[in-house]
Amino acid sequence: MPRRLAVLSNCLANQNAKVAEFEVCAGAMFPLVEILRAADYRILQMPCPEMTFLGCGRWWQSRPQYDTPGYRRHCRALAETVADLLEGAGAAEAEDVVLFGIDGSPSSGVGVTSFAEGWGGRPMHHPSKHVYGRGVWMEVLLEVFAARGLAEPRLIGVGTELVGYDQPQELERVRAFLNSPRHEAEPTPPPARKEAPKAHSRTPRSRSVLVLPEGGMNDAALCARMEAEGWGLLQLPPDGLETDARDRALSYLVDQVQDYLAHDHRVALAPGADCDLLGAALAARGLGPLPAWPV
Ligand code: SF4
Repeated sequence: MPRRLAVLSNCLANQNAKVAEFEVCAGAMFPLVEILRAADYRILQMPCPEMTFLGCGRWWQSRPQYDTPGYRRHCRALAETVADLLEGAGAAEAEDVVLFGIDGSPSSGVGVTSFAEGWGGRPMHHPSKHVYGRGVWMEVLLEVFAARGLAEPRLIGVGTELVGYDQPQELERVRAFLNSPRHEAEPTPPPARKEAPKAHSRTPRSRSVLVLPEGGMNDAALCARMEAEGWGLLQLPPDGLETDARDRALSYLVDQVQDYLAHDHRVALAPGADCDLLGAALAARGLGPLPAWPV
């Protein structure tokens, strides 16, 4: 039984999921993956709630625009699959379960989210501010965990959407949090400066997505090769899930693959990801077999 679980917001392993111009690296945030691997965490990736709702061509939005009954319903259904993953991975017996959100995000914010009252209609200059509070997805996720009787994981928001984001500093914050006593509350979020968030895009996204087996991020040699080529990662559901849970998780993964392909991304299969179930799920959507990496 794994002793430690790290549950990642999708974009920490795949910056291609970000809304346009908010990526901070080409593909996965491999230095974070390395910290988790070195600290002996089994890494699980959540689906992206915004990608699976509005796709990768979505507009910028703030929390009030996502705070709708329809988006909450979508998040609840998606959160059930994350709860399935945690149960399947033995979260109840794990020594530590850490969930990584994204501070500044309208959906995945842990301590800081974005807010713009009355914003809507014709796209225009981003008027939203950062405010303390959870994003819609994070709020729903925790409600579903509680309803399923799962203990609340330790939470940390990585501040990729905050003004002045600094990756080395953030990674230091993550290291300190992982080493802190397990009973310690989530870290104080960085100041929610009342400025509109700035798009970063210092390194453009790779538009390259690799589907990989569950253990792929725990494989150092494989990660080094994937990092060199700037791949974003989509993790297959782990083995051992009940059939219904596995099918739901696979269906959300295929939703994302389908959307990336429709938006001219390169999608390929990492070694070990070429399974019959994925092939059948893709074929059911009229999608041909994905090329094997290296492509
Ligand atoms: S912050 Fe959350 S909603 Fe936004 S891209 Fe990342 S996983 Fe998706």
